Amino acid sequence: MKEYEKTGILSVEDINIPDMKYLRKGVAIIECVQEIPCNPCVTACPFNAISMKDISSIPMVDFDKCVGCGKCISICPGLAIFVVKVRDDGFAEITMPYEFLPIPKIGEYVTLLDREGKKQGKGKVLRVREGSRKTFVITVEVKEELAMVVRNILVKSRGE
Ligand code: SF4
Ligand code: SF4
Repeated sequence: MKEYEKTGILSVEDINIPDMKYLRKGVAIIECVQEIPCNPCVTACPFNAISMKDISSIPMVDFDKCVGCGKCISICPGLAIFVVKVRDDGFAEITMPYEFLPIPKIGEYVTLLDREGKKQGKGKVLRVREGSRKTFVITVEVKEELAMVVRNILVKSRGE
């Protein structure tokens, strides 16, 4: 039995991580390991970059085809898709689904959280988009070494 089957929390070893040449371009990282009948990510991609052998298979990203547009992020009911782009200045941009309130503002510093919900310092919000299913799509700037660590954010309540 894999560790995440006991804890419900994935680790980096459970995920298909692309080479740095793709991370520099910015590509989708799919953190979906459950073999359940689900495939909206496949049809959401305008570049046919996501494929599945059958409806219950684990989705795979063709990193050559993926352009990092993020259209697949908010369509995923499992909130399992992120776009990661590693810049050449020591920082990375992580684009993630976000379904809490308050919605962060561009330029705001938010608390970065890892897959376990542990705090990983602060990051600056670069972009805020409203996606489908009332899911927002937020891009945060993080130190490069946190590119595969940060997967959520905590936004300070207004008035605090
Ligand atoms: S980020 Fe865009 S191009 Fe890449 S898999 Fe998602 S929808 Fe397709
Ligand atoms: S939409 Fe999300 S949960 Fe469904 S198969 Fe795609 S990545 Fe997995």
